[in-house]
Amino acid sequence: MKAHDGMYIGGEWRPAAGPDTIAVVNPADEQVIGHVPAGTPEDVDAAVRAARAAFPGWAATAPAERAARIGALRDVLVARRDEIAETVTAELGAPLQFSRAVHAGVPALVAGSYAELAATHPFEEKVGNSTVLSEPVGVVGAITPWNYPLHQIVAKVAPALAAGCTVVLKPAEDTPLTAQLFAEATAEAGLPAGVFNLVTGVGSVAGQALAGHDGVDLVSFTGSTAVGRQIGAVAGAAVKRVALELGGKSANVILPSADLAKAVGVGVANVMGNSGQTCSAWTRMLVHRDQYDEAVTLAAAAAAKYAPGERMGPLVNAKQLDRVRGYIEKGVEEGARLVAGGPGAPLERGYYVSPTVFADVTPDMTIAQEEIFGPVVSVIAYEDEEDALRIANGTVYGLAGAVWAGEESEAVAFARRMDTGQVDINGGRFNPLAPFGGYKQSGVGRELGSHGLAEYLQTKSLQF
Ligand code: NAP
Ligand code: MG
Repeated sequence: MKAHDGMYIGGEWRPAAGPDTIAVVNPADEQVIGHVPAGTPEDVDAAVRAARAAFPGWAATAPAERAARIGALRDVLVARRDEIAETVTAELGAPLQFSRAVHAGVPALVAGSYAELAATHPFEEKVGNSTVLSEPVGVVGAITPWNYPLHQIVAKVAPALAAGCTVVLKPAEDTPLTAQLFAEATAEAGLPAGVFNLVTGVGSVAGQALAGHDGVDLVSFTGSTAVGRQIGAVAGAAVKRVALELGGKSANVILPSADLAKAVGVGVANVMGNSGQTCSAWTRMLVHRDQYDEAVTLAAAAAAKYAPGERMGPLVNAKQLDRVRGYIEKGVEEGARLVAGGPGAPLERGYYVSPTVFADVTPDMTIAQEEIFGPVVSVIAYEDEEDALRIANGTVYGLAGAVWAGEESEAVAFARRMDTGQVDINGGRFNPLAPFGGYKQSGVGRELGSHGLAEYLQTKSLQF
């Protein structure tokens, strides 16, 4: 795999300040596929300076011109989609077909949506005797995880650019090659020097330096709740804007009137895709007591279709493998019943786990409360609708969810009572313009569409 040995700062690849590097590993075969520099606070400082220097010019660039550059960026992402898919597959392990459709496909859609929004968003509006201006917040520090490596970058960078902000990105240490490819794409798209900057490195060094830097006006973070809490505290102390996209433990609520086979099949697929490494995955399947045994049989059969090494890729690294196996063991210890998969290694090499389904899970078990981030579904029985609602809302998280019913209106009535930021009704399709983000400890702020753009704007009102 192609790897740059420098940082992308001020429109060029510059040597890193320190000598340390990060080895990038292919989780499917555990082989090292490249090295990238491990950024230091010095690299972060240089990148923030470049972003600050570029900010006045980019903020003053007409929205139509910003839209044209984001549109050009979308075009580069489309033209290089095969290379993007291969890179994501090499460093994340996702099957190539999934990488093409989702890891390469969705970022192009999202970039396209922001090209459109930059051109059409009302950056000025009249309110009575006032004119309200929406102005860019300034320099954005973006910190992203590895699970949807390009999507999470684009979901921050595209709206920031549309708003007129400049950006310093610290991507996940596990997936820096995709981020380097994105940096190349910004250059090809003709973004002015310093508008987008990349510092690869580890979270506790480069990430921390970026989140705490005085020259950063807004920190946008996606990742674990534990790190999000720290970043929120640092940003709060500095009175800095912050957006946090954190974990989830979403419920797939199957009401008795639903098409059970479809709801279970789609529900299992939702968790197994990307090897369960999706913050919005519906990892708790809630089924009425009377339909429970049938649902468990259907779920086990659906999971069996996700053969490790074929339809399902590995987990991203050895640490995540240990973590996920630990949760599966904990589920068994706490009395849940394995009906598919388990903690054993399905293949000789690679960080694989088997698609796993637990039955007889009670709402208070660890596997029903904590984010596992692996291909593990817990099937939970409920007595009636009130019980289902209590269970659905009974975690610290509130990122996503699903409701299935015979009539859409019945599902919508239930969805209105869920404490969560997104609900798919009877298998609703992904909408790149719909706001995405969490209630409760799943986060602060929204990404995507006009709500995502608003995160990067601050308002000034002029009275006449
Ligand atoms: P993480 O540590 O929260 O990583 C997210 C990003 O934050 C990475 O770029 C990381 O760098 C960086 N980071 C880590 N510590 C930091 C610090 N002190 N200051 C600033 N930045 C910091 O997540 P993880 O370790 O990759 O995964 C652990 C768990 O988080 C998973 O099992 C899952 O439950 C959850 N997770 C959630 C999402 C989501 O989309 N909500 C995504 C990924 C993970 P490094 O790459 O160097 O760690
Ligand atoms: Mg980490």
